[in-house]
Amino acid sequence: MEFTEQDKALLLKIQEADVNLLAFIRGRGWRPLSIDELEKFVQNRAQFEADENGVSLEQFQKWLDFEYGDRCCISTTRKGTPCKGYVRPCHDPHSFVEGVTNCCTSHTSHGLTYERKSA
Ligand SMILES: [Zn+2]
Repeated sequence: MEFTEQDKALLLKIQEADVNLLAFIRGRGWRPLSIDELEKFVQNRAQFEADENGVSLEQFQKWLDFEYGDRCCISTTRKGTPCKGYVRPCHDPHSFVEGVTNCCTSHTSHGLTYERKSA
């Protein structure tokens, strides 16, 4: 969605009245946005947030799926069923490593192909 000149005029009035526009950047937190930034944020929030976090969109999406998803181990047990073991949260998209961050301690310490002994 691109802002019209009318939209921008209204936003400028709001800004001139010292009203700040705050956005929640996942992985970073709240921060004020300029009118130009707001337009980019509205057009493609995930790309904007990936840029803010200094990671690729692909990396950001993987982290997003993990952090805002089920947040459980993606590995499989010896029986071939999903492990779904407990995985600690990862609040920083930079630190997310596919196959490590989203695996339980049993699977992380032995790699994705390790079959969990308790299963
Ligand atoms: Zn596991």
